[in-house]
Amino acid sequence: MSARAGTGLRRGGSHHLRVNPIDCVAHGMCHELLPEQIALDEWGYPVIGDDPVPPGLLALARQAVQTCPTRALLLERRRTE
Ligand code: SF4
Repeated sequence: MSARAGTGLRRGGSHHLRVNPIDCVAHGMCHELLPEQIALDEWGYPVIGDDPVPPGLLALARQAVQTCPTRALLLERRRTE
């Protein structure tokens, strides 16, 4: 885990990145912004785990979502039960 990363837990839920593979065009801009959370496969498509985005990386995650040219990258908030 990077020094920028925290626990990923926030009161009321957690944030998770996911990608819509149909809309993604695999140029990797999201990985450039957030390599701690987004890897690339051999074809340049993002590989995103299901771990929550740590609070310290949320601003970068939102920036990655906003700069995705095809809006394929999504940031979901999940409530804790
Ligand atoms: S920035 Fe968007 S289109 Fe580009 S690789 Fe990431 S998810 Fe796919």
